Amino acid sequence: MINQEMKSIVTSAVKKYSCLAIEVAKQIAKNAETGYKEYKTSKLVKDWFTHYEIPFSDNLGITGVRANLNFSDGPNIAMLGELDSLVVPSHPDARSETSAVHACGHHIQIGALLAVACALNEPEVRKMMTGNVSMIAVPAEEFIEIGFRQALKDSNAIEFFGGKQELVKLGVFDDVDIALLTHATGDTINDRPIMVGGRSNGHLAKEVRYIGKSAHAGAAPHQGINALNAANIALAAINANRETFLDSDSIRVHPIITKGGDVVNAVPEEVRIEMYVRGRNIDAILDANRKVDNSLKAGAMALGATVEIRTIPGYLPLEPDFKLSSIFKENAIDYLGTENVGVVPPNSLNNSGSTDMGDLSWMMPTIQPYTHGVSGQIHGDDFEINDWDSAITTPAAISAITIVDLLSNNGGKAKEIMKNFKPRFLKEEYLSMLRSISKFESFQG
Ligand SMILES: [Zn+2]
Repeated sequence: MINQEMKSIVTSAVKKYSCLAIEVAKQIAKNAETGYKEYKTSKLVKDWFTHYEIPFSDNLGITGVRANLNFSDGPNIAMLGELDSLVVPSHPDARSETSAVHACGHHIQIGALLAVACALNEPEVRKMMTGNVSMIAVPAEEFIEIGFRQALKDSNAIEFFGGKQELVKLGVFDDVDIALLTHATGDTINDRPIMVGGRSNGHLAKEVRYIGKSAHAGAAPHQGINALNAANIALAAINANRETFLDSDSIRVHPIITKGGDVVNAVPEEVRIEMYVRGRNIDAILDANRKVDNSLKAGAMALGATVEIRTIPGYLPLEPDFKLSSIFKENAIDYLGTENVGVVPPNSLNNSGSTDMGDLSWMMPTIQPYTHGVSGQIHGDDFEINDWDSAITTPAAISAITIVDLLSNNGGKAKEIMKNFKPRFLKEEYLSMLRSISKFESFQG
């Protein structure tokens, strides 16, 4: 661990910038933007780097930004922050025109990222360091607005719906050795201000379209093919399969109907559904996905409708690096005290949601510690920041100290973590796996 004098230099440097970074995070909250549309958010990040003369590249995966601190040759650690918001129409802070709102706390990640960038760039901190730190503001972590992203894909603006997936494809992570992101948690998961460890579910996404035949709903329903009835049977069939899902696989299948028909007096001729199939491992996800596909076809068969099923690669389960977690944990304890730092046991799943940090974790040592300073439910209409210092200054200080710990002393700790890490995928294998999941099928029932 680095000595107390170095720590106090790093902590003071973070505190020097965190008030301003908090103001930027508040502005980001006011301008909440969903994935691949984060233009104003991205500009705030770029303005910050420009002001502090930190070189960066931009327009990565449409809105992504990457700055480099470039100390010397050596390991490269990426600290990440996510640019995008959610959509929660009932949230009091939801933007009136789009319902976009930062109900997952990504704006505080960006605040921490900006404070850490400047703190590590201070001359007295720079001289402790070997290697490079890449500060990467990534687009589109929330895997939402599937129709919009499909249109981006169709126009070749993106290939993958997740921002980190797209940035991996573009080579933004080619020279990154270690990845770190701190993420807020809501009331349900986090019982201490900082939690380290914990895995997450992986997932894939589906876009489904039932095509029936319109007819007068009162006078001639026998001449129509009711796409909504076909969809209802499919959803019932999916529900009937739930008893076959093992608890240990943590399967979640959660559909929404995004279009249920056109007018009330005509037999619905088009119904659209979006859904995720989540699970703890790839085999379980693919098995549940097969049952979902069968169920979707059963609905089409029952009514004589057609169903179009598009399967979209989602995220891999997060497998945090144990050694990296323990270094972060030690520094968190030193900063906050033992009683304020919790550890999720290595084999426990603390988050049955999904994140594209999972994808990175299969290719490089990766952690996503959880931080507090927030209240309410993640993705809920009551999520809010109740302590900006805990939400931004604390994770920024612990992240900065951890990065200095990894890159000081000639980068010894970073090199050890890299040496012990066994990637599950190389980049090209990973991209092929994603592409193998991508599928479109039209089934005539
Ligand atoms: Zn999130």
